Amino acid sequence: MPKFYLSTPIYYINDVPHIGHAYTTIVADVLARYHRLKGAEVFFLTGTDENSQKNFEAARVADERDLKKYLDKMSAKWQSTWDLLGISNDDFIRTTEKRHLDAVKKFWLKVQKNGDIYQGTYEGFYCVGCEAFVTETDLVDSNCAIHKKPAKKIKEKNYFFRLTNYRDALIKHIADNPDFIQPIKRRNEIINYIKDFMTDVSISRQNFVCGIPVPNHRQQAIYVWFDALINYLTAIDYGAKTIKGKVLFKKLWPADLQLIGKDILKFHAALWPAMLMSADLPLPQTIFAHGYFTINGDKMSKSLGNVVDPVELAKIYSNDAIRWFLLSEIKFGEDGDFSLVRLKDGYNNKLANELGNLVHRVLSMTEKYCDNKVPKFSAAAEGLDPLCEIDIWRDFESAMDHFRFDEALGVIWKVVATANQLIDKEKPWDLAKNDNTRGRLNDLMYNLLETLRQLGWLLLPIMPETAEKIWTQLGLSIEKEKAKAMDKAKIWGGLRAEIKIIKGEPIFPKIV
Ligand SMILES: [Zn+2]
Repeated sequence: MPKFYLSTPIYYINDVPHIGHAYTTIVADVLARYHRLKGAEVFFLTGTDENSQKNFEAARVADERDLKKYLDKMSAKWQSTWDLLGISNDDFIRTTEKRHLDAVKKFWLKVQKNGDIYQGTYEGFYCVGCEAFVTETDLVDSNCAIHKKPAKKIKEKNYFFRLTNYRDALIKHIADNPDFIQPIKRRNEIINYIKDFMTDVSISRQNFVCGIPVPNHRQQAIYVWFDALINYLTAIDYGAKTIKGKVLFKKLWPADLQLIGKDILKFHAALWPAMLMSADLPLPQTIFAHGYFTINGDKMSKSLGNVVDPVELAKIYSNDAIRWFLLSEIKFGEDGDFSLVRLKDGYNNKLANELGNLVHRVLSMTEKYCDNKVPKFSAAAEGLDPLCEIDIWRDFESAMDHFRFDEALGVIWKVVATANQLIDKEKPWDLAKNDNTRGRLNDLMYNLLETLRQLGWLLLPIMPETAEKIWTQLGLSIEKEKAKAMDKAKIWGGLRAEIKIIKGEPIFPKIV
């Protein structure tokens, strides 16, 4: 069985998740479900980045004196958000867990032994918002260009990582592996950075209030990014000494896909692979950076009051509607814009009127003309070809394999539109009036019902709750249907005749 190990970034927990975090996590969930359908043993990781000064300061603002209590509370909030949104992660890592501390220690000592850690003096700026050492060129009037707050000038003795040792190896690896950094514009961006701007980086802080202590030097804490990146190894037992842990690590590493936002490209596409090279570990197959998104054209920010809470939104529209909207609206990898008006219009037009209405009308007609049962299909009559054939599946899989989720949804909606058109053309209500056309009516209805079953399969990774609702209304057992291998499930004609359908309420009730 092939494996597929994918991850989201781990998130800072100085605030609750917003729609941008949900976007990354939802995309990861879609891909995890898709690869499970294709028969891979999937390991889907997300988690929280807890050794950060940002979290420490947020705890103080929240008047929580006990940092651990604050971290526990906030991390639980993130976990429950993903549960409410139906995210199917296999593990949730917190970087304050013992397993992570063990892995970080092991990693540090390995890199140190390989000669890539040295002591030096750091003199420069640090932005707490970025949790990054910044250079004068990153500042505008002594403020961080992103956070618009003054960066702190610091001068301290700390440890450095010989990042520049890996300049040539990184450039070569990126050139030899065109899928390594995606999309292309991010690859070009990172090559420029590695060639012209990359320097050795400070990887520890002196007398620090939070953070993992440097092994054998407790007055120093490990720089939060150096610790955080190692989470991708920790979760698959890099730090474990047990045989079971070693087997798991060997099986799952290197990761197949690491999803990130473009703001953390440098850390993931330069520092992280160099750290891995230094620790004698292979690099992930693909690092994919998605774009930013704005809300009605504006940057999402607390001060603008336009921060979107994904859980509140899902209460109104459903988890699947949010998934559908984010994936169809934004080309993955590009910047995008989120608009409540477009969400509502899209929901009513595409989900309620097109998909929801197709399901409801086909089941209503089955009830009315076919005694509530799936009719027998007699012959492939003229004009009643299967609506969901090999070419549909091929286009769908090709889009999914290339992160083109908007196109994958386009393929699904092509099937929906064709089915709706077929009903309008064949007019089952007329076919039902005449005994001579009974056979054609049965064949038409079978064709439409089987199309719904197949739509369930196409929708399963992207809109899992909708897929299950469709199958339930078709009278199928969700468990039995899901237990099929995708290759078998997509063969036309899998719906047995005589099954009693269970027409329910419309799956996407209109929202006014
Ligand atoms: Zn900043």
